[in-house]
Amino acid sequence: MTAHPYLEKKVVLTSKHEKLKLIKPAFDALVGCELFEENLDTDQLGTFSGEIERVASPRETALQKARLGMKETGLLLGLASEGSIGPDPVIPFMNSNIEHLVFVDDENGIVISEIYRSFDITAATITAAPGQDLTSFLGTADFPRHALIVRPNTRVKSDCIKGITDPDHLIAAIEVSSKISPNGFVVIESDLRAMHSPSRRKNIEEVAKLLALRVSHLCPECDIPGWGQVDYKKGLNCSECGMNNLTAISQEILGCVKCDHRQPGKVIAESLEPAQCNFCNP
Ligand SMILES: [Zn+2]
Ligand SMILES: [Zn+2]
Repeated sequence: MTAHPYLEKKVVLTSKHEKLKLIKPAFDALVGCELFEENLDTDQLGTFSGEIERVASPRETALQKARLGMKETGLLLGLASEGSIGPDPVIPFMNSNIEHLVFVDDENGIVISEIYRSFDITAATITAAPGQDLTSFLGTADFPRHALIVRPNTRVKSDCIKGITDPDHLIAAIEVSSKISPNGFVVIESDLRAMHSPSRRKNIEEVAKLLALRVSHLCPECDIPGWGQVDYKKGLNCSECGMNNLTAISQEILGCVKCDHRQPGKVIAESLEPAQCNFCNP
């Protein structure tokens, strides 16, 4: 068994929201690289509270972030994360948190990435006036465990007061924002930056575990890191009527990020339940 190519290698995590302690444990345990944090202002790539619109996709933004730290440190190995929180792309009436984490290896010319999607995210918003009873909202927002942002009720986000975790500070922020709000109302919303959102932090830890696991696996053909599930084999026969469903997932397909090597992975289902069959349960 040869040592992992990243063992004891320096890897830079570009972050400004204290993500190192969320991501490092999984990489320490599974990869053994020396992950450290480079604190850079990544706001030019879009801010979480939305004052600066993010133009690239979350994955592309994460790649750009990783390269900022790599450029700064002169290293060829970099890591960065980018999350989005909002109506879920598949179940739009529910909020979800999708965390992207990318590992860039410019020595081998590869990018290894993972995505973790969770509905376990505290994200609340309300439009309110000074003096309004916020008891119910503050319960939903899990305040003060989760921090809040207060801003004037305007279409373009500006004058955000962030990181509020204290009831007196909240009241003062509402007063201040109300005075500069054209209609006197303020918007109070969850501060979703990683260091202010425990529920989001948990999801970043989860995506880190997934990525560290993928990075730890080497391709059996070319020994490049990043071996893991890349696709699914489809097509299952119904256990009742035997009809074939072409879209049903039967097995994982494992692959390499560098070469074309593919292997069948974990079997997900041997046959289709009649309840999912187009013939038995149209
Ligand atoms: Zn059937
Ligand atoms: Zn390979």
